[in-house]
Amino acid sequence: MVDLDVEEPNSGLFVKGKLEETNPVYKMVPVWEKDKCTFCGNCQKVCNFNAVIQLHTQVLVFPKLCHSCYACSELCPTDALPMKPEKIGEIKTFHQDNLTFLESCLNIGQEMAVQVIAHTNKILEKDYQGQLIIIDAPPGTSCPVIEAVKDTDFVLLAAEPTPFGLHDLKLAVDTMRKLKKDFAVIINRFGLGNDKIWEYCQRQNIEILAKIPNSRTAAELYSHGKLIYKQIPQVKQEVLKIANKIRQLSGEPK
Ligand code: SF4
Ligand code: SF4
Repeated sequence: MVDLDVEEPNSGLFVKGKLEETNPVYKMVPVWEKDKCTFCGNCQKVCNFNAVIQLHTQVLVFPKLCHSCYACSELCPTDALPMKPEKIGEIKTFHQDNLTFLESCLNIGQEMAVQVIAHTNKILEKDYQGQLIIIDAPPGTSCPVIEAVKDTDFVLLAAEPTPFGLHDLKLAVDTMRKLKKDFAVIINRFGLGNDKIWEYCQRQNIEILAKIPNSRTAAELYSHGKLIYKQIPQVKQEVLKIANKIRQLSGEPK
C-alpha cells in the first residue's frame, strides 16, 4: 500500500506498522557561481518557469519554481549554473504483518509534489514489480493525480453525493477517459445529498462498485484513527465488494 497524497498523507494513521527505513527525495536545482558568470542572460531566456532571472550583475534562482529541466545549466556558456541536489521530501517504509506500507511525503513549503510522486513510482517499479499495489492518490485532476495514476491498471474514484462531489467526479471521469484508464466509482457518505451521482453514472454507463453509508459513528471512528469497516457491518459489506473487485482484477480467487 502506498500513500501518494504527498501534500497531506494520512493512510499512515490507520497502519500501525514498524518503521523500517526513511529515504530522502531530492530534486536538482541550479546554483549560481558568480565568478564564472558573464551575465549573458541566456539562463533567463531558456527557463520556461521564471525560476531563474538576471538582474544586471546578479542572477537569482528560485528553487521552488524550478522543474529541474537542466536547460539553464546545460545552455550556460560558462558552466556557471551547476545542478545540485535539494531535499524536497521523504519516503518512509513500514511493515505490518504481510503488508508493506510506503508513505510518500513532500516537505512543508515545497511545491513539487509531482517529483516526489515520480520518485516513489520509480521505487515501486524497481522493488515491487509483480506485487499487488494499492495507491491512495491525491484528490482532484491536477498534475499530482496524473502522476499518481499513470502506471495503474485500475482506478477507483471516490465521490460524495453532493453538487460539489458530482462536479469533481465529472472532471475525474473525463481525466480517466483521456488517460484511457479503467475505473469505477465508490459513493462515499451514501444517503447524504441527492441521487445525481447515481443518475450520472447510469447515463455514462459507469460501474458503482460500493456505497459507503453516511454515518456519524463512521466519522467519529475515523477521527480516532480507527478502521470503520471493523465496527460498522454495512461498511464491511461494501469494503468486501471493493476487496473482491481488487482480487478479481489481480487474478486472485475471491
Ligand atoms: S547563462 Fe550562465 S553566464 Fe549567462 S547569465 Fe546565466 S549564469 Fe551567467
Ligand atoms: S533547471 Fe529548468 S526549470 Fe530549473 S531554473 Fe533551470 S531552466 Fe528553469
